[in-house]
Amino acid sequence: MANVPGFHAVKDQVFADLGLYQQLSGLYDGQWLSGEGRPRVAVHSPINGEWLADIAVGDENDYDRLLERAWSSFEEWSLVPAPKRGEVIRAIGDRLREYVDSLGLLVTLEVGKTPVEGKGEVQEMIDIADFAVGLSRQLYGMTIASERRHHRLYEQWHPHGVVGVITAFNFPCAVWSWNAFIASVIGNVVVWKPAPESALTAIATTNVVNDVLDEHGLPPLFFLAVDGGGEMGRRMSADRRLPLLSFTGSVGTGREVAARVGKRLGRSILELGGNNAAIVTPDADMEIALRGVAFGALATAAQRCTTTRRLILHESLFDSFLPRLVEAYTTVGVGSPLDPDVLVGPLINKRAVESYAAAIGQAEKAGGRVLVGNARLELAGLEGGNYVAPTLIEGLPPDSAIVAEETFAPILYVLGYGDLDEAFAIHNCVPQGLSSAIFSNNLREVEAFLSVVGSDCGLASVNTGTAGAEIGGAFGGEKDTGGGRESGSDAWKAYARRQTVTVNYGVELPLAQGVTFDVN
Ligand code: NAD
Repeated sequence: MANVPGFHAVKDQVFADLGLYQQLSGLYDGQWLSGEGRPRVAVHSPINGEWLADIAVGDENDYDRLLERAWSSFEEWSLVPAPKRGEVIRAIGDRLREYVDSLGLLVTLEVGKTPVEGKGEVQEMIDIADFAVGLSRQLYGMTIASERRHHRLYEQWHPHGVVGVITAFNFPCAVWSWNAFIASVIGNVVVWKPAPESALTAIATTNVVNDVLDEHGLPPLFFLAVDGGGEMGRRMSADRRLPLLSFTGSVGTGREVAARVGKRLGRSILELGGNNAAIVTPDADMEIALRGVAFGALATAAQRCTTTRRLILHESLFDSFLPRLVEAYTTVGVGSPLDPDVLVGPLINKRAVESYAAAIGQAEKAGGRVLVGNARLELAGLEGGNYVAPTLIEGLPPDSAIVAEETFAPILYVLGYGDLDEAFAIHNCVPQGLSSAIFSNNLREVEAFLSVVGSDCGLASVNTGTAGAEIGGAFGGEKDTGGGRESGSDAWKAYARRQTVTVNYGVELPLAQGVTFDVN
């Protein structure tokens, strides 16, 4: 670990830059809740298991007060003209630019991403802030030709009110910003419940953005309610005061959330697990394919919703492509993300390490052969960390139970195919439908993959991997991934309620469809 910046030096610097302490409040309702006598959630670093901070969490009364304040902020904020709201989001984006390094490194300490990925997470917040600024002048409604004389028919978009956002640990601030900046530029106010594992990043981000609002003399718009394991999320799911709830997390939790929100006939945006595959055909550029598959399967220690979990490889490539992939898996640097030679950091916690081991065990039982990996790693100086060896497994039937599951760990199943129809059948046979890729320079193969008989996912990529989406496109997936869309394109419409307006400016009352109704 020569030349690796020390964990403690980084931690001290980051805590100082962001004004963090080891005892913090996890509830922001316009002010930070006092931690006195409150239950606390401990945050540990997955890098070495070290305790980072204790976070005080609020109870039901605190949550109710927070909701009241959020609605009161909405009354003021929703009347600010949208382009003026955009100016505020621009100032927030500018402030975040000052914190790219410190917030990025906090992401590293708290969830184990490499610093370049940690900073990328903050950059994504800045990018979506820029997008939201543009959007603030483009919240267009459609005008429709009316069938009635002297009538005008058009659509307009209003904010929902207070929007709930529940996020997963693996994108500790970027996913919140996709929701928060788009929702707020439309006029909504946001209540955020982050994953307990990444509560520090949420607290630091909330601090940075609300400071800007304070400076603009605005009420708080970005509320925060950390919990220890689901109670706040359950409350939010059942709460009619949150007309829209955006949930990012696993399929299992998402099902529960969807049922609760559905029961009260609320709206939800569901961004759930993926089980993403890359197809590599004989016509691929093998250098691009190798790097694309390796990045997709290994980046963020395979803890991305878009991680490549299945490689669908043409049978003719098993003797050439596969050995190179095995070599990449054998030599890739695994360890502290603060080490510049490391590309694969730790898993988030011990439970994730257990799931990794259990999945490999199940795969072996089902006839899978481990080509490389299958080891828990005890690394010198990082004894409390959660490290595992990236693993490649071949020989499993594509529809076996373990392949159909998303294991949030670096395990890549290699599945062979003969013709393209078979590749598509394998590709689409899992319950999830988030991200997909084909590596091929053959126009027919590529267009077939993008056609209705090809990928059934929300994201389809050609000659680039399944991971690493840009904010400009709408992000989300089909089937068990939940069907939600966030981020760019016209995903903003989910954060607004559509109102169809009919105006009669004539002196008669013609009815639609030629109906007559003469009361005298
Ligand atoms: P998770 O489902 O365990 O938790 C997600 C969030 O839900 C956390 O904030 C958690 O505290 C909260 N939660 C837990 N129980 C709850 C309940 N009963 N009601 C409401 N909320 C509850 O997921 P995770 O382990 O934090 O994250 C990994 C998962 O998230 C993976 O499946 C990954 O694919 C998925 N994910 C999806 C996307 C996407 O955009 N599709 C993005 C990132 C992560």
